Amino acid sequence: MTVEPATPFRTVPLVDHRRAERAVGELLAALGYPVQGEHLAATPARVARALAELVTPTAFLPTTFANEAGYDELVVARSVPFRSLCEHHLLPFHGTASVGYLPGDRILGLSKLARVVGHFAAGLQVQERLTQQVADWLSDHLQARGVGVVIEAEHLCMTLRGVQARGARTITSALRGEVRTDPRTREEFLDLVRCHG
Ligand code: ZN
Repeated sequence: MTVEPATPFRTVPLVDHRRAERAVGELLAALGYPVQGEHLAATPARVARALAELVTPTAFLPTTFANEAGYDELVVARSVPFRSLCEHHLLPFHGTASVGYLPGDRILGLSKLARVVGHFAAGLQVQERLTQQVADWLSDHLQARGVGVVIEAEHLCMTLRGVQARGARTITSALRGEVRTDPRTREEFLDLVRCHG
Protein backbone atom coordinates (compact mmCIF):
# COMPACT_ATOMS: atom_id res chain seq x y z
CA MET A 1 0.00 0.00 0.00
CA THR A 2 1.47 3.37 -0.93
CA VAL A 3 1.31 6.14 1.62
CA GLU A 4 1.53 9.78 0.66
CA PRO A 5 1.65 12.73 3.00
CA ALA A 6 -1.02 15.17 1.90
CA THR A 7 -0.20 18.82 1.36
CA PRO A 8 0.31 20.54 4.73
CA PHE A 9 -2.68 22.18 6.34
CA ARG A 10 -3.01 25.93 6.73
CA THR A 11 -0.10 27.63 8.45
CA VAL A 12 -0.64 28.25 12.13
CA PRO A 13 0.17 31.69 13.58
CA LEU A 14 2.61 31.76 16.47
CA VAL A 15 1.21 33.00 19.78
CA ASP A 16 3.07 35.86 21.51
CA HIS A 17 2.32 34.76 25.10
CA ARG A 18 3.80 37.80 26.85
CA ARG A 19 1.87 40.19 24.68
CA ALA A 20 -1.35 38.20 25.12
CA GLU A 21 -0.85 38.24 28.90
CA ARG A 22 -0.31 42.01 28.94
CA ALA A 23 -3.37 42.52 26.77
CA VAL A 24 -5.58 40.40 29.06
CA GLY A 25 -4.40 42.47 32.04
CA GLU A 26 -5.31 45.62 30.11
CA LEU A 27 -8.70 44.19 29.17
CA LEU A 28 -9.48 43.31 32.79
CA ALA A 29 -8.56 46.85 33.86
CA ALA A 30 -10.78 48.29 31.12
CA LEU A 31 -13.65 46.10 32.35
CA GLY A 32 -13.22 47.55 35.82
CA TYR A 33 -11.27 44.63 37.28
CA PRO A 34 -7.68 45.85 37.55
CA VAL A 35 -5.23 43.06 38.28
CA GLN A 36 -4.45 43.65 41.94
CA GLY A 37 -4.15 41.26 44.83
CA GLU A 38 -3.81 37.53 44.86
CA HIS A 39 -7.16 36.58 43.33
CA LEU A 40 -6.54 38.02 39.87
CA ALA A 41 -2.75 37.94 39.90
CA ALA A 42 -2.40 34.82 37.79
CA THR A 43 -5.53 35.36 35.68
CA PRO A 44 -3.90 37.13 32.69
CA ALA A 45 -1.40 34.31 32.30
CA ARG A 46 -4.12 31.67 32.63
CA VAL A 47 -6.43 33.40 30.13
CA ALA A 48 -3.56 33.84 27.67
CA ARG A 49 -2.72 30.12 27.96
CA ALA A 50 -6.36 29.09 27.57
CA LEU A 51 -6.83 31.24 24.47
CA ALA A 52 -3.53 30.05 23.02
CA GLU A 53 -4.73 26.46 23.45
CA LEU A 54 -8.04 27.23 21.74
CA VAL A 55 -6.42 28.81 18.69
CA THR A 56 -3.60 26.32 18.18
CA PRO A 57 -4.40 23.12 16.30
CA THR A 58 -2.46 19.98 17.14
CA ALA A 59 -0.14 18.99 14.35
CA PHE A 60 -0.60 15.69 12.56
CA LEU A 61 0.36 14.23 9.27
CA PRO A 62 -2.79 13.68 7.23
CA THR A 63 -1.57 10.66 5.31
CA THR A 64 -3.77 9.26 2.60
CA PHE A 65 -3.71 5.79 1.06
CA ALA A 66 -4.34 4.50 -2.41
CA ASN A 67 -7.85 3.02 -2.60
CA GLU A 68 -6.52 -0.33 -3.76
CA ALA A 69 -9.62 -2.29 -2.77
CA GLY A 70 -11.72 0.07 -4.84
CA TYR A 71 -14.10 0.81 -1.95
CA ASP A 72 -16.88 2.85 -3.49
CA GLU A 73 -19.49 3.33 -0.77
CA LEU A 74 -19.84 6.26 1.58
CA VAL A 75 -17.44 6.51 4.54
CA VAL A 76 -19.05 8.54 7.32
CA ALA A 77 -17.78 9.65 10.74
CA ARG A 78 -20.85 10.74 12.63
CA SER A 79 -21.10 13.18 15.57
CA VAL A 80 -17.43 14.04 15.94
CA PRO A 81 -17.26 16.47 18.88
CA PHE A 82 -15.42 19.75 18.37
CA ARG A 83 -15.01 23.16 19.95
CA SER A 84 -14.02 26.43 18.38
CA LEU A 85 -13.88 30.15 19.09
CA CYS A 86 -16.31 32.54 17.41
CA GLU A 87 -14.34 35.26 15.65
CA HIS A 88 -17.05 37.84 16.28
CA HIS A 89 -17.21 37.57 20.08
CA LEU A 90 -14.24 35.41 21.13
CA LEU A 91 -16.73 33.10 22.82
CA PRO A 92 -16.75 29.35 22.25
CA PHE A 93 -19.06 27.49 19.99
CA HIS A 94 -19.14 23.72 20.25
CA GLY A 95 -21.04 20.76 18.93
CA THR A 96 -20.64 17.86 16.57
CA ALA A 97 -19.60 17.41 12.97
CA SER A 98 -20.63 14.56 10.72
CA VAL A 99 -18.24 14.07 7.86
CA GLY A 100 -18.50 11.69 4.95
CA TYR A 101 -16.94 11.04 1.60
CA LEU A 102 -17.38 8.84 -1.40
CA PRO A 103 -13.88 7.48 -2.07
CA GLY A 104 -12.15 8.10 -5.36
CA ASP A 105 -8.48 7.30 -5.84
CA ARG A 106 -7.44 7.89 -2.24
CA ILE A 107 -8.74 7.10 1.23
CA LEU A 108 -7.93 8.61 4.61
CA GLY A 109 -7.40 6.82 7.96
CA LEU A 110 -10.74 6.86 9.82
CA SER A 111 -9.48 8.78 12.85
CA LYS A 112 -8.15 11.41 10.48
CA LEU A 113 -11.67 12.59 9.63
CA ALA A 114 -12.01 13.74 13.24
CA ARG A 115 -8.52 15.28 13.07
CA VAL A 116 -9.45 17.33 10.03
CA VAL A 117 -12.45 18.74 11.92
CA GLY A 118 -10.31 19.49 14.99
CA HIS A 119 -7.65 21.14 12.90
CA PHE A 120 -9.96 23.60 11.19
CA ALA A 121 -12.00 24.17 14.38
CA ALA A 122 -8.92 25.39 16.28
CA GLY A 123 -8.61 29.11 15.76
CA LEU A 124 -10.99 32.00 15.29
CA GLN A 125 -13.84 30.70 13.20
CA VAL A 126 -17.38 31.05 12.01
CA GLN A 127 -19.41 27.87 11.61
CA GLU A 128 -20.16 28.39 7.92
CA ARG A 129 -16.47 28.71 7.00
CA LEU A 130 -15.49 25.76 9.20
CA THR A 131 -18.04 23.59 7.38
CA GLN A 132 -16.72 24.64 3.98
CA GLN A 133 -13.04 24.29 4.89
CA VAL A 134 -13.51 20.70 6.07
CA ALA A 135 -15.47 19.84 2.90
CA ASP A 136 -12.98 21.56 0.58
CA TRP A 137 -9.96 19.98 2.22
CA LEU A 138 -11.39 16.47 1.87
CA SER A 139 -12.57 17.17 -1.63
CA ASP A 140 -9.17 18.49 -2.76
CA HIS A 141 -6.89 16.04 -0.99
CA LEU A 142 -8.70 12.76 -1.49
CA GLN A 143 -9.89 13.39 -5.03
CA ALA A 144 -13.12 12.10 -3.53
CA ARG A 145 -16.11 11.56 -5.82
CA GLY A 146 -18.19 13.36 -3.24
CA VAL A 147 -17.99 14.91 0.21
CA GLY A 148 -20.60 15.86 2.81
CA VAL A 149 -20.17 17.80 6.03
CA VAL A 150 -22.97 18.64 8.48
CA ILE A 151 -22.16 20.64 11.61
CA GLU A 152 -24.49 21.24 14.52
CA ALA A 153 -23.33 23.65 17.22
CA GLU A 154 -24.28 25.79 20.16
CA HIS A 155 -22.84 29.31 20.07
CA LEU A 156 -22.38 30.80 23.52
CA CYS A 157 -22.59 34.28 21.99
CA MET A 158 -26.16 33.41 21.06
CA THR A 159 -27.27 31.22 23.99
CA LEU A 160 -25.69 33.01 26.98
CA ARG A 161 -25.84 36.64 25.86
CA GLY A 162 -27.66 38.75 23.27
CA VAL A 163 -30.92 36.97 22.45
CA GLN A 164 -30.09 34.28 25.05
CA ALA A 165 -31.68 31.60 22.90
CA ARG A 166 -30.85 28.80 25.33
CA GLY A 167 -30.61 25.39 23.74
CA ALA A 168 -30.62 26.78 20.18
CA ARG A 169 -28.41 24.83 17.81
CA THR A 170 -27.15 26.08 14.47
CA ILE A 171 -26.87 23.61 11.61
CA THR A 172 -24.73 24.13 8.52
CA SER A 173 -23.90 21.79 5.67
CA ALA A 174 -21.52 21.63 2.74
CA LEU A 175 -22.03 19.01 0.04
CA ARG A 176 -19.61 18.47 -2.82
CA GLY A 177 -19.47 16.29 -5.94
CA GLU A 178 -21.84 13.32 -6.11
CA VAL A 179 -23.01 13.83 -2.54
CA ARG A 180 -24.46 17.08 -3.82
CA THR A 181 -25.54 16.17 -7.33
CA ASP A 182 -26.68 12.53 -7.10
CA PRO A 183 -30.06 12.46 -5.31
CA ARG A 184 -29.62 8.88 -3.99
CA THR A 185 -26.13 9.47 -2.59
CA ARG A 186 -27.24 12.75 -1.10
CA GLU A 187 -30.23 11.11 0.56
CA GLU A 188 -28.09 8.22 1.83
CA PHE A 189 -25.55 10.60 3.35
CA LEU A 190 -28.21 12.75 5.02
CA ASP A 191 -29.99 9.61 6.35
CA LEU A 192 -26.74 8.31 7.87
CA VAL A 193 -26.07 11.66 9.47
CA ARG A 194 -29.61 11.98 10.83
CA CYS A 195 -29.60 8.59 12.58
CA HIS A 196 -28.65 9.99 15.97
CA GLY A 197 -29.21 7.00 18.19
ZN1 ZN B 1 -20.34 35.05 18.09
